[in-house]
Amino acid sequence: MALKEGVVVRASSGVYTVDAGGHSVHCLLRGNLKKTLEFTTTPTGSKHVARVRRLRTTDPIAVGDRVRFAETHHGQGIIEEVLPRHSMFVRAGYRGTQHTVVSNIDQVMIVFACAEPRLDPWKLDRFLVAAELEGLCAVIIANKRDLVQEADFRADFDPFIALGYTVLAASAVRGDGIEEIRALLRDRISAFVGPSGVGKSSLLNAIQPGLRLRTGEVGAATHKGRHTTTSAQLIPLRFGGWVADTPGMRRFELMQTDPEELVYGFREMVPLLGKCRFADCRHIAEPDCAIRRAVEAGVVHPRRYESYRILYSELLQRA
Ligand code: GDP
Ligand code: ZN
Repeated sequence: MALKEGVVVRASSGVYTVDAGGHSVHCLLRGNLKKTLEFTTTPTGSKHVARVRRLRTTDPIAVGDRVRFAETHHGQGIIEEVLPRHSMFVRAGYRGTQHTVVSNIDQVMIVFACAEPRLDPWKLDRFLVAAELEGLCAVIIANKRDLVQEADFRADFDPFIALGYTVLAASAVRGDGIEEIRALLRDRISAFVGPSGVGKSSLLNAIQPGLRLRTGEVGAATHKGRHTTTSAQLIPLRFGGWVADTPGMRRFELMQTDPEELVYGFREMVPLLGKCRFADCRHIAEPDCAIRRAVEAGVVHPRRYESYRILYSELLQRA
């Protein structure tokens, strides 16, 4: 039988819902596939591989995986093959019992508002650093553009354009940027993150009426004894592509990272690495530090460097 290809959009008790061009097929996994996977999966980054390996023992297939399957009956099939992953987003669930796993996320749409609430650049840095360290491509959406003048918008967001990030001005109420966002989402797997109140739900609804994500109140619901799933799912977009819906993703944040690796989260600092006097420079107080020199020379923005210092000491305290 000819194998078909699709994307796993949901996984529940060993049944995988595969979206094959708008056609949903409920698949089981071929019995011996679990073993094969260990050899076919391409690891993305050494840091994440250990975590992925451990989780794979409980669930060998993640939402977002591209699979080849045989459709045995209409709407039912057997997964025969999992294609190599290019990214892996992993989060431990509440009390470590569950986890959120989405493979092959192409981009994270980081939503902030131009006003109400006004952009908090320190908070945006946290999202950007988390995305960089996960190896995920970040796009900044500046929503509520209708509330500010051009000059204020530029003053707040230009520094991030200068870093090389794509900043899309949008307004869920006026319709600005919606077509551009759709174009970016088309045929890709995207995640929407950002603080609450910035207009994520409104934007999703403007992109596709009815499109909404589950909220991330995992802890609260669990305390009441209700089982709240933290498992991921992908919501298909009518124009092509998927939006990742995972409560864990809503709490997108900097995970415990080796403080020495933090600098990789600041893209403008990466090219300076290796140019400090000391090979193990932490870029905090060392003499002849290339990053501190770049700050003094106005090449690295002082506010970004301050962000680095704050996150560095936070990671040190958590370690
Ligand atoms: P979320 O918490 O990020 O999902 O934010 P919501 O979508 O719930 O929006 C928060 C508030 O901002 C609501 O009162 C929305 O009506 C309002 N809002 C959302 N998008 C816009 C926008 O583009 N312009 C304006 N003026 N208000 C918006
Ligand atoms: Zn240094």
